Amino acid sequence: MNDSSRRSLPEDIAATSEAVAGAILTIDLGAIRENYRRLKAQLGGVGCAGVVKADGYGLGASQVATALLREGCDIFFVALLGEGIALRRSLGPGSAIFVLNGIPPGAEPDAVAANLCAVVNSPEQLAAWRAAARRAGRKLPAAIQVDSGMSRLGMAPQDVERIAADPGAFDGIDVRFAMSHLACADEPDHPANERQRLAFERLRALLPKAPASLTNSSGIFLGQRFHYDLARPGAALYGINPTPARPNPVLPVVRLQAKVVQTRMLEAGVGVGYGHTVRTTSPLTAATISLGYADGWHRRAASAAWFEGVRLPFLGRVSMDSIILDISALPPGSLGEGDLVELLGPSQSVDDAAGHAGTIGYEILTSLGHRFHRRYVNG
Ligand SMILES: *Cc1c(COP(=O)(O)O)cnc(C)c1O
Repeated sequence: MNDSSRRSLPEDIAATSEAVAGAILTIDLGAIRENYRRLKAQLGGVGCAGVVKADGYGLGASQVATALLREGCDIFFVALLGEGIALRRSLGPGSAIFVLNGIPPGAEPDAVAANLCAVVNSPEQLAAWRAAARRAGRKLPAAIQVDSGMSRLGMAPQDVERIAADPGAFDGIDVRFAMSHLACADEPDHPANERQRLAFERLRALLPKAPASLTNSSGIFLGQRFHYDLARPGAALYGINPTPARPNPVLPVVRLQAKVVQTRMLEAGVGVGYGHTVRTTSPLTAATISLGYADGWHRRAASAAWFEGVRLPFLGRVSMDSIILDISALPPGSLGEGDLVELLGPSQSVDDAAGHAGTIGYEILTSLGHRFHRRYVNG
């Protein structure tokens, strides 16, 4: 490469700048803050944490947590130690950050250095956190998670009974919360909810006296007796409906728009896309947009995009970097290269898209890729 070609490299243009990216993801931090306020209102005086695992459900843990901090939220939950360390770096000291999956054995010093709170899921994790406290020469903060019936994470009832009989079990541990997680909170009539609540009642009585935390987003809507001292919503902060059978009590947060790369006229009888899974039966106008399964729009999620309220069905298979739309419903010439069509937003909510794809909003959000231009608004 000679000097002149090197000079011509557009080093100041990021791969995901608005001009260069194939799609634009707009994240409304003001809506996240409003959703937090709505959940707080639903909770009365009960505390409300922010769950920002998986990079804030794909929307940016640092940006989301910073926005929540401005609403007075100072307790955060992540899933992994690495997420906790990264969040500590961006938030600075002050707020409590809990690591839901627990501290991996041997990594306790890293958790202590980042001033993280352990979620203790087993007697072994409890012993390791006790040892870390001894080494650190101070009490270390923890939430003790018990398995009240989801069978995923937390101490089994017999483990809780065993440590309850050990007077030194919590030496050096500052028990901030007794916690558990509901398996069926989005189904208000599911008998497991009350069963889990009663199991949680029994198990937390065996632990050192501490505030209690049971509900995720959906659990907040199961009634006051589920609220205890701290709720742990994630999904509802990000606009996912926590009450699937009822209207969404929270605001949408994301808008995903993809650029049109090309439009073309198709005659009747031509194959469209990989595998020619679609063959035109009449002439139509098609547009190819710059978004595909590499951006998290799954290949099987056959669906539609929208332009000015008009539905534009996908034609054939989703490619890695592109999708072909039937835009015949639009007046000729209304859509051209560089114009934006909507995949998520007012015309198609995250929950709508999930429904079409046979999945849940959580998976739509956390699948969103890294090639988008991300625009944070109302921060
Ligand atoms: C993910 C998670 C939450 C948040 O759940 P949402 O359904 O997204 O509100 C709360 N608690 C635990 C233990 C979790 O794993």
